[in-house]
Amino acid sequence: MHVPVMCAEVVELLSPHNGGVFVDCTVGSGGHARALLEAGATGIVGLDRDAEVLVQAREALSPWADKVDLAHADYRSLPAILDARGLAVVDGVLADLGVSSFQLDGVGRGFSFQRDEPLDMRMDRSAGLTAAELVASSGQAELAEIIFRYGEERHSRRVARAIVELRRREPIRTTGQLAAIVRRAVPGPPHWRIDPATRTFQALRIRVNQELEGLDRFLGEASRRLRAGGRLVVISFHSLEDRIVKRTFRVLETDDTFPLRTLTRRPRQPTEDEVRRNPRARSAKLRAVERLAQANEGGGGR
Ligand code: SAH
Repeated sequence: MHVPVMCAEVVELLSPHNGGVFVDCTVGSGGHARALLEAGATGIVGLDRDAEVLVQAREALSPWADKVDLAHADYRSLPAILDARGLAVVDGVLADLGVSSFQLDGVGRGFSFQRDEPLDMRMDRSAGLTAAELVASSGQAELAEIIFRYGEERHSRRVARAIVELRRREPIRTTGQLAAIVRRAVPGPPHWRIDPATRTFQALRIRVNQELEGLDRFLGEASRRLRAGGRLVVISFHSLEDRIVKRTFRVLETDDTFPLRTLTRRPRQPTEDEVRRNPRARSAKLRAVERLAQANEGGGGR
C-alpha cells in the first residue's frame, strides 16, 4: 500500500477546514485526497495517468463518492480538465510527483529490479513506448545521454555501451537482464550501499514517462487556477524535479499580473520520524505558493 508523504504538511498548507474544491493532480491510491476530505474538503477532482491506480483511488475514496470526481488524465492537461467541469478557479492544487509504491511494487509493471519481469515502466499503459522498446531503439549516445541526464550516473557511457553490446546478441526484455548489465558495467565494490542499477532505472523511468517535460508549464497553469488565497503544493522526489519546481516558482513570483507568494523559501522535508516510518519519504521536498489578491504587498497595486 502507498503511504502518503508529508500528509500533515499538505493538509496544513491547503487548509480544507472550511470546505472548498481541491485538485489532486496525482491522486494515486487516494491517501492525500482522503486526508483532505477528512479535514473538510467539499470537493476533490482527482487525476492520475495510471488507470490501474485510479481503481484503488476509487475504492479508497468510496465513502466520499459524492464529493469525488476522478479522471484518467495527465496533469499536463489540467486546464482542459477544469474547463470541462466549469471550474475557473479552485481552492487548492496538490501534485505529489513521481511513482507510487503501488506502481513500484506492482507485479508486472517493470519499475523495479527486485523481480525479473517485462521491462515496461509506463505509468499510463495505454500509450507510449515501453522501457524495453526504448532500450531496443535508442542509439548508444542517446542512451548514454538519458542515463547521464536523468539518472545522474557517472558511468553512463559504460552502461550504454554494455546495453548495446548485449542487445546485439539478445533482445533486452526484462528488468533482470537490464539490472545485470548495469551491475556488471558499473565499477565498484561488490557490496554497494545502493544498487548501481537504481540510477539507470530512474533514468529510463523518467524518460519513458517524460516526467520532466512540461512540468514548468503545468505549474504555471495550475497557479493560474487558484482563487485568491488558494495554494499550490508540490512534492518532488529527486533533485532534477525539485530544481524545476524551485526555478518555476521563482519565475512565477515575478509576474505582477498574477501575484503569487512563495510559502517555502526552503523546501519542507519530512520529519525524521516520518522517514523512519516510511523510508520512501526520505527524498521528499515540498514547495508551495499562494495566490495573492493584490499585486505584492507594498508594491502599490497593479
Ligand atoms: N498522493 C498519492 C500518491 C501519488 S504517487 C497518494 O496519497 O496515494 C504519484 C502518482 O502520480 C502515481 O500514481 C502516478 O501514476 C501519478 N502521476 C505521475 N505523473 C503523472 C502525470 N503527469 N499526470 C497524472 N498523474 C501522474
